[in-house]
Amino acid sequence: MSEQEANLSQSNFFGHPIGLRTLFFTELWERMSYYGMRGLLVLYMTIGVVGNPGLGWSNVEANAIYGIYAGMVYFLALPGGWLADNLLGYQKAVLYGALIIMLGHFTLAIPLEETFILGLAFVAIGTGLLKPNISSIVGQLYADQDERRDSGFTIFYMSINIGSMLGFAVCGYLGERIGWHWGFGAAGIGMLFGVIQFVYFRSQLGTAGLNPNEMAEGRRSTLRLWTIITVIFFAAVVISGVLGLWSIDPVFFAERFRDFLVVISFIYFGYLFFFAGLTSFEKKNVLMLLLLFVGAAAFWSGFDQSAGSLSIFTRDYVNLTFGSFQAPVSWTQFLNPLFVVMFAPFFAYLWVFLGKRNLNPNTPIKFAIGLIFMGLGFIVMLYAVQYAMVEAPVGVQWLLLTYLLHTFGELALSPVGLSAFSRYSPKKYLGQMMGLWFLASSLGGVLAGLFGGEATESGLSSMTPIFSELIYYYLIIAAVLIVLSFFIKGSLKER
Ligand code: GLN
Repeated sequence: MSEQEANLSQSNFFGHPIGLRTLFFTELWERMSYYGMRGLLVLYMTIGVVGNPGLGWSNVEANAIYGIYAGMVYFLALPGGWLADNLLGYQKAVLYGALIIMLGHFTLAIPLEETFILGLAFVAIGTGLLKPNISSIVGQLYADQDERRDSGFTIFYMSINIGSMLGFAVCGYLGERIGWHWGFGAAGIGMLFGVIQFVYFRSQLGTAGLNPNEMAEGRRSTLRLWTIITVIFFAAVVISGVLGLWSIDPVFFAERFRDFLVVISFIYFGYLFFFAGLTSFEKKNVLMLLLLFVGAAAFWSGFDQSAGSLSIFTRDYVNLTFGSFQAPVSWTQFLNPLFVVMFAPFFAYLWVFLGKRNLNPNTPIKFAIGLIFMGLGFIVMLYAVQYAMVEAPVGVQWLLLTYLLHTFGELALSPVGLSAFSRYSPKKYLGQMMGLWFLASSLGGVLAGLFGGEATESGLSSMTPIFSELIYYYLIIAAVLIVLSFFIKGSLKER
């Protein structure tokens, strides 16, 4: 054991490898910047808030751009993971990702409409490099049989939510009250703290995620060349767009992006099922993962409306005055991460408690529970909309209840989904299957932008039909999951 390894094995973070602390704080600052900026995005693109006008784009366009952005962030996790596997190694991918994200937020901090999309593009590309790879390093801190792995991920999930609370609080206040670009700049400063912290404590990761996969140098050079060509091509496309050489209707683009994601997901599942040489046992697991994929995409299509249609509803129809204090609109986004931190231990305990009595529901049922909570959250919103039609503004309790229900849904579905994808995926396709899990978030993000746009197209009157339609879909998909879970029972492969 080298001196460095000996030092590392002696120090720890809540009983976990000390490297987890580095990743905890990097992810905390990255999520601070991501959610802090995201909370402002749709408000800024539309009419803004009282005393602080925005760009004045339509609700439909703003939601579509938000959807494309949220979708891209998770879609780019696929090339981001590939680059780390083959060329960069995970540690470098995280570092470069963090630097590009920081550059993106600082670009958004420039008070120019022309550089806005460029800033978003940088944040999306950087997040694609950082997000999947930082999770991979968490996994690599533990030996295969280390029982601390799941609780390591739980601690890591906490950093996500502590970071987002900080982001909504700081960027939300600065952006809405002082100036939008101050909020975006604050997100950049947050990411800068993350970068400094990562550079300073990186050695504590030891060799976890240090090197890319082994391969012949010749092959690596070819991959590097193709990567550079691809990057130059896409950079030219984005820069020419920023320079105004071409433009595209955001709704049209969001719809095509949605179709593209649906097609590539099904092609990939189809390939796995028919051509990947899986045993019939593995094929059953793949079918179950397809079911979970559909459930997760549907879930995020509602969940991610928090920074879209629900944010617009909050700004236009909710009373945020408490005594003499008027809370920023984006502060209501604080509720979800707060509830996650409060209730995550309860959910973790609940599954163990039920497991001991042989009552632990299987994964599709947990997904159905997640979707039912999502539907219930929108049922609460239907009432809020009805009350707002009679007399606006309505009280903040409607949001409190909606976000509580949405968080219960998240806790029933999100951690469970991550562990199901790592557990039931055919082993040699594990990395790519994790990519598919992120693809469900990507599809959900685009759908959230499209649904959110339709819901806010003409004020309250367009919310009722769209929210009702969504409730209907969520409950139908939940019912399908419950019915199919009986067929799947007994065929789940334990690893
Ligand atoms: N809130 C979690 C995160 O930011 C999960 C989001 C998602 O997968 N859509 O990491």
